[in-house]
Amino acid sequence: MVKLAEWQGKEVFRKYGVPLPIGKTATGPEEAAAATRDGSVPLPCVVKAQVLAGGRGKGGAVRFANTPEEARAAAAAILAMEFKGERVRTVLLEQKLPIDQELYLSIALDRSRRVPVLIVSAQGGVEIENVADEAIVRIPIHPFAGLAAYEKRQAARALGVSGATAKSLDALLESLWRVFVAEDAELVEVNPLARVGERLVALDAKVIIEDDAAFRHPQYAEVRDDRTPLEEIAREKEIAFVQLDGDIGVIANGAGLTMATLDVLQQFGGRPGVFLDLGGTDDPKKVTEAFLLMAQAKPSAVFLNIFGGVTRCDTVATGLVEAIKQVPPAERFPLVARIRGNNEAEGVAILRQAGITSLKDLKESVVAAVAASQSSKTGHGGTA
Ligand code: GDP
Ligand code: MG
Repeated sequence: MVKLAEWQGKEVFRKYGVPLPIGKTATGPEEAAAATRDGSVPLPCVVKAQVLAGGRGKGGAVRFANTPEEARAAAAAILAMEFKGERVRTVLLEQKLPIDQELYLSIALDRSRRVPVLIVSAQGGVEIENVADEAIVRIPIHPFAGLAAYEKRQAARALGVSGATAKSLDALLESLWRVFVAEDAELVEVNPLARVGERLVALDAKVIIEDDAAFRHPQYAEVRDDRTPLEEIAREKEIAFVQLDGDIGVIANGAGLTMATLDVLQQFGGRPGVFLDLGGTDDPKKVTEAFLLMAQAKPSAVFLNIFGGVTRCDTVATGLVEAIKQVPPAERFPLVARIRGNNEAEGVAILRQAGITSLKDLKESVVAAVAASQSSKTGHGGTA
């Protein structure tokens, strides 16, 4: 999956004629100030962090500036940020447009219907996941025929645009469809799509290119993907480690159990922040290494959910206890363990010796993990 940053997505958009605000990237505050002073970016302007995570607006990673001095300050503040674990290295400066309305529009691959689908909502500007389903219209698109005129009218109705605006929507949809097909995208998202008077302008761009088509697009080979620094280290060590938005660490084995554990945690009010899939490890050192990596993500609590098969419970327990010894006391976090299966008794005994209780019941252990995370966040944390 090649995720393009906003400015890269917009460069692609520009090639296909999608209307965009005038803008320029900068990697330093002085460069940002200069872009507004020499007129390459008209004032007032927007200064936006070029990171792959969404929610920048809410997170202070989108700021406004009226003067070159303010642009410099905004750029300096944003370039000093680490946004959702990603260092900001580039900002995009764009003319600030007087928005009349924020809309949502995307073309995505619908894997269950096996066709591209056009998704529109008159409630743009917020993450689509937070928009009520009734306010979202999904229009499946024939992959070979492309967008039919009636489908474009359907989109216009859903967005509540007519007249000249509906005309520019037509053109915009054609452009985005061409981006989707010709660039082998799996997602092309514009949120917000701004209505400025009768014009429509793409204020944001999210483009994801299909991995399998990468050979057709060597220009994207240079695009760094979206791994966080810890994920990068994990990848080098061949550890399956993924950071998420929440705060509870999950260690499980096998993709199925790992995903199910995340779901159950979520169901009981926990927010998974990072997960580690130990897979079929038979080396306690590997477990230690993985656990120490997880410790660096500073979870509020860790939930260990292991089903011993190829991976034996005692291997995991040994590696884990060794890792805990290496975590400085000040950086420890509560740990809730549930290890079942192959060599369970040995594993449980090893954990018990280290003062860790292994719970048998899934629900009981999940509830304990969520509670441990909450009390550790409010400062009454126990120890790992
Ligand atoms: P995201 O939060 O990471 O998706 O970042 P967006 O690019 O969607 O920007 C967040 C919000 O900033 C938008 O919903 C707009 O309200 C605002 N914004 C972004 N660009 C402009 C602009 O050119 N003019 C104005 N007035 N607001 C903007
Ligand atoms: Mg957006």
